[in-house]
Formats: sequence, C-alpha cells, structure tokens
Amino acid sequence: MKNKIIVAIDGYSSCGKSTVAKALAKYAGYTYVDTGAMYRAVALYCMEHSIDVEAGADWNNVLPHVEIRFSLMPDGTQHTMLNGEDVEARIRTLEVGNMASRVSPIKEVRAFLVAQQQAMGIQKGIVMDGRDIGTVVFPKAELKLFMTASPEVRAQRRYDELRGKGETPVFAEVLADVNDRDYRDTHRDESPLRQADDAVVIDNSSLTPTEQMEKICRIFDDRIHR
Ligand code: C5P
Repeated sequence: MKNKIIVAIDGYSSCGKSTVAKALAKYAGYTYVDTGAMYRAVALYCMEHSIDVEAGADWNNVLPHVEIRFSLMPDGTQHTMLNGEDVEARIRTLEVGNMASRVSPIKEVRAFLVAQQQAMGIQKGIVMDGRDIGTVVFPKAELKLFMTASPEVRAQRRYDELRGKGETPVFAEVLADVNDRDYRDTHRDESPLRQADDAVVIDNSSLTPTEQMEKICRIFDDRIHR
C-alpha cells in the first residue's frame, strides 16, 4: 500500500483547477476538497443576511452561524451544503464569485475556513484546490501544482460555462471580472495568491485536457514513488 499524500492545487480563477483536482482525486482514489466553494458559501451567507462585507461585520458572531459541508450525490458529484441546505447551484454565479473574492481577504474568514481545511487533511489522501493551499493551508504538501492560463483563455472558459448554464454573459464583462478577481486575489494582505517556491507550474493555455491530465498523473505517480 503506497503512502497517501496531500496534493495542493493553487492558481488563478477559471483556469481549470477544479476539473484537474477532481480528475486527479478520482485517479488517486483521494478525497477532493474545493476550498473556493467554502469562500463562496460564506459570501452567499453574507448576501442572504444583508451583511455589509466592506463596512466590516462582527465576524466572531457571524461565522459560528455558518456551517459548511460537502455532500456526495448519487451521481458521484459533490454538492456544497450551507447550514444543511444544498447551495451548489446558487454559489456558482458570477455575483457570488465576486462576493467571495471580497470576503476572502478578511482575516477572520480565512482563519475560520483554513482551520476546517487543515482538519480535512489530517488523514492525507486529499486533493485540495484554492489560492493558498500550498503556501498557507498545507505548506508541507508533498505535491503542489500551480495552474495558470492567459486571462483571455480563462474568460472564454468562464463565458462558455455560464452560457451552458443558461445565463447570458457579456464577454467583455467576464474578462473584466477575471482581471479584477486576479488583482484582488494577488494584492490582498491576507494570504495573497502566489506560487509556492516548490510548486510545479502548469500553464494550460495551449494544452488539451487529455494532455494536461496525462502530464499531471505522471507527476503524481513520480511523487508517490519517491
Ligand atoms: O476558486 P473560486 O473561483 O471558486 O474561488 C472564489 C474566490 O474565493 C476566489 O476569487 C478567491 O478570492 C477566494 N478563495 C481564496 N482562497 C481559496 C479559495 C478561494 O481566497 N483557497
């Protein structure tokens, strides 16, 4: 029986982190954790409870009312549950994504979620994706991947994804949103998105999904056999 490891996948928004993380978790027989969904769930909670994130809230009183879990569906997908309610579809809108990048710089929010994420990794055998997994959550992860692609390629993917869900996005707005989010994620004081020194960089602007997965599975196999 091979030793189980922690795989940390970080990178910009809409560069396919979750697709890769899910596929790698399946390949490895590991648990997948989408930390972006956790920030999105906090964002949705704030939106639904009229919490003015920019004005500052009494986070130590708010956060204990936010209970996030992942539930495995019969079709094998994972749904995000917020206080017992399935919010998977509601957290995936552009609006909630935007709000997530506004709540994510808040120190108390990060401490609250990072503690839960670290607890999920105690047994190892986990693939976790986000922005600070290889730098803050699991700085000693055995395998760190840093994913990137050009803003235009990422905006196109996001645009196609939103259209696929029946929304009617405007490409220029989606691109502006990608750039704004990159800026906020890389310039915040608390755990800004940055590449860990020991991360393997995967630029998938011109890789097909199959090429990308082959490359990543090879890297994973090499790492567990070391
Ligand atoms: O990856 P996703 O787009 O779902 O993440 C939504 C937002 O949550 C990001 O723009 C980022 O601000 C925040 N986030 C974070 N740290 C993580 C995961 C997500 O700050 N580990």
